[in-house]
Parts: sequence; C-alpha cells; structure tokens
Amino acid sequence: TKQQIGVVGMAVMGKNLALNIESRGYTVSIFNRTASRTEEVVAENPGKKLVPMYSVEEFVASLEKPRRIMLMVQAGDATDKTIQSLLPHLDKGDILIDGGNTFYKDTIRRNEELANSGINFIGTGVSGGEEGALKGPSIMPGGQKEAYDLVAPIFEKIAAVAEDGESCVTYIGPNGAGHYVKMAHNGIEYGDMQLIAESYDILTRVLGLSVEECATIFNDWNEGELDSYLMEITSDILTRKDPETGQPIVDVIMDAAGNKGTGKWTSQSALDLGVPLPLITESVFARYISAMKEERVAASKVIPAPTVATFSGDKKEIVEKIRQALYFSKIMSYAQGFAQLRIASEEYGWDLQYGEIAKIFREGCIIRAKFLQKITDAYDRQADLKNLLLDEYFNEITQKYQQSVRDVVSLAVQAGVPVPTFASAISYYDSYRSADLPANIIQAQRDYFGAHTYKRKDMEGTFHFDWYGANN
Ligand code: NDP
Repeated sequence: TKQQIGVVGMAVMGKNLALNIESRGYTVSIFNRTASRTEEVVAENPGKKLVPMYSVEEFVASLEKPRRIMLMVQAGDATDKTIQSLLPHLDKGDILIDGGNTFYKDTIRRNEELANSGINFIGTGVSGGEEGALKGPSIMPGGQKEAYDLVAPIFEKIAAVAEDGESCVTYIGPNGAGHYVKMAHNGIEYGDMQLIAESYDILTRVLGLSVEECATIFNDWNEGELDSYLMEITSDILTRKDPETGQPIVDVIMDAAGNKGTGKWTSQSALDLGVPLPLITESVFARYISAMKEERVAASKVIPAPTVATFSGDKKEIVEKIRQALYFSKIMSYAQGFAQLRIASEEYGWDLQYGEIAKIFREGCIIRAKFLQKITDAYDRQADLKNLLLDEYFNEITQKYQQSVRDVVSLAVQAGVPVPTFASAISYYDSYRSADLPANIIQAQRDYFGAHTYKRKDMEGTFHFDWYGANN
C-alpha cells in the first residue's frame, strides 16, 4: 500500500508537520537529504505511521497518485535543488507543495517552470513556528486551484481551528499569492512586535514602571481589544527570571534584534508597488538600528539625552493612553498592510479575498488576535474597501483614540525615548486624512531644477513655470 502524502525535510518544521498530518489519520512517507535525520525522527516517534524512505526514487514511488509531496526544506537554493532531484521521478498531475518561507517571486517562477512539465506547484505559507506546525498552523496556499482542491482535505484537518470552528486555511490565489500573503503576515508581525516593544519602553523609561508591573499591564491589556498571542507571550516573558542572576530575563537579553529578511521583503515589495508602508518599514529599520549596538553605546557617550524631570503625572491615565495608542497604531499597520495586499493583488492578478485572509490569521499564526475578526467584518461590509480606515468601525475607534497617540508620542519625544512606529502611525493617519499635503512644494522644486512639470489645482493639463525667465 502506498502513503497518502510525502514530506521532504525532517528539520523541526517538516518533522512536526508530518506528525501533525499523521495524527489526523493519514499515512505519511518521510524523506530527508541526510538519512540519519530521518532515522532519528522515526526512532523518536515509535508507533507513528511515518514511513521512512532513504532514496528519492523509493520516496516518490511510495506515494499514491496523483502524488502530494510537501517540501519543508531551507528556502532558496535548497528548495530548487530538492525540486530538481524529485522532478525526474514525478508524473504529470503530481502536486509539489512548498511550505518553506519562500520569496514569492521564486514561487511564481517555480510554478511556471513546473507547469511546463505538467507538475502542479502549490506555494504555501505556514505560520505558527514549530508548535504551530505540530498542533495546527495557519496555512496560506497559492497555486493551481484544481491541485489545491486535492490537498485541501488534508490542510483543513491539520490547520488551526478558530473560535467559530473554521479551519485557518483558505485558498489564497494563483502562483505566488500564498507566499506573498505569508510575507505580508511576517511584515505585520514585525510591526506588532516593535509596537509592543515601544510600549514597554515608554512604560519603563518614561513612567518608570518595573518589569513586573509591565507584565501585569500587558496581561490586563490582553483581556481586551489587544487580545493577541504576541501580547500574551510578552506578558509571560516579562515574568520570567534569569536562573544565573535572578534578574528578569529581559534585562539580560542583548538589545540587538535579528531577522531573517521577510520584513525587509515586505517593505521592498511596498516600495516596488508604490504603496506607503511606513510602520512596518520603520519596524524593520528599528531592528537594524538595534543591531548597531556598539555604535549606539559609543554614541551614547558623546550625545547626551535631553534633561527631563521624573514623570509626576497620573500614571494610570498614561497607561490607558499607551494602550489606546498601541491599538490605534496596530490599526494603522494593518490598514497599510491590507492596502498593500490590494495593490499586489491587482498587480499580479490574484483576486485576493481580504476578509478570508484576516480570518485565517485568527488562530495558529504569530499575529493571531481577536482584532482580526474586526478586519473580516469590515470586508464583509464592503469587499472592495480601499483602506480599513474608511470602514465605520475603524474610523470611529481611531477618531476616539487619536488624541492618546498624540499625547503618548509627545511624551516619549520630550523624554528622548524613540518611538519610530508610534510616531509613524500618527503621521500616516494625519497624511491619509489630509485633503492637502505639501507636495506642491516638491512639485515646484522638481519643476525648478529639472523641468519635471506640474499639474494645477484649477486647470487641466501639464505646466512648466519659467523659473529663470526675466518676467517671473
Ligand atoms: P531549515 O530551514 O533549517 O532547513 C533544514 C532542512 O533543509 C533540512 O531538512 C535540510 O536537510 C534541508 N536542506 C538544506 N539544504 C538542502 C539542500 N541543499 N538540499 C536538500 N535539502 C536541504 O528547517 P526548518 O524546519 O526550520 O524550516 C523549514 C522551512 O520552513 C524553511 O523554509 C523555513 O523558512 C520555513 N519555516 C520555518 C519556521 C520556523 O519557525 N522555523 C516557520 C515557518 C516556516 P539536511 O538535514 O540534509 O541538512
């Protein structure tokens, strides 16, 4: 008898995904380039219906047709090499599924190349880390719809389940759509994380609260509008102590953030598409500036902080303002991220369903949050919504909270505490709601030095001012 699905790549993600699929009653062939790893996985999991294969030929031959093969290998070159090794053994109609964190343009390319050989290629985002892979990730599949339909029953069983019982997986769109949405998800994740970090910075450095007090505040915030996985783990993180020193673990962790590039890709795509994505982009830059630890330490010795009196106002009141500022800024970030999805969808012809995308983010993935239901509701009210800020709920709540952002940003700026994403959130809001912006000055400058021409508010047509003429 043949197995129903195969998984290639037995590092943590592939192993956990294979175990997840097996736990839903499917038989799974497993394969890894380095055979000893496959042996280990089998030895670690006695009694599971994971069938180890030690050559590409026998792995492919062990699968029911049309074959369903999930790749969970390193993104990039390793994925191309793995596909090349499988290809000679595949038949027309077989389905390769790439679950890695692949750059969407690679997926577009592979989908097209493989389609020429009659092989279906599903590029799928898988979010939720190792735990999610094992217990239920959020899954974002893109590729041939007919091929996805043959994989859907499995994905629907292994995905996370939302509160209303719906599976956190939906067909996203053709070719690279799934990996694009996964990339945008990761960009949004960068923004959410930076916003929480800035909130913490204001609470501790402006208000002078302790790590323990912040843990309690985040825990409280997690009960309401800000209810989310990242809020939950941050509040837990703040309760943990370093076994070496007994200090809060956050106080001994180096303040230099790493990254694997998916936030950068999101910003790069926004720049290419001409979509404003300032908040996520600031959060990418915030990681970069954090990584310049030595340079910052050196600079701190020669560039003094502003002199500020210890905060003497009502701390409770400011804590609530920070909460509102955080929610407001999160809305700005998602408004930008979903506006980017809309433009990308038009550019690549994906027909993305924004409400469905927000739905599958509700569980399993890192940005899972109650708040995502609000986004689904907004697109239910109006499927072609240009920007979330135009939706009645988001319009009302941001109007209500905007004063708090202004107060919190002013306070932080006065205290010399950097708030790149909070400041960017209120600037985006003010730019988006401004009928007039000072771009008239820019157009005049462009026309002045480069004769780039301008349009007028009161007349149709293209104009050039005679800046160097004798009469002007
Ligand atoms: P890694 O990204 O560390 O990749 C290791 C796997 O890739 C191993 O199975 C390895 O095989 C294989 N591999 C590497 N190079 C080659 C090659 N040239 N040819 C064939 N196989 C190769 O593993 P993870 O489990 O962390 O992630 C798997 C995928 O899932 C990645 O694309 C990752 O970006 C993505 N992902 C990871 C998440 C996470 O939280 N870790 C979350 C979501 C997605 P060998 O043992 O022989 O070296």
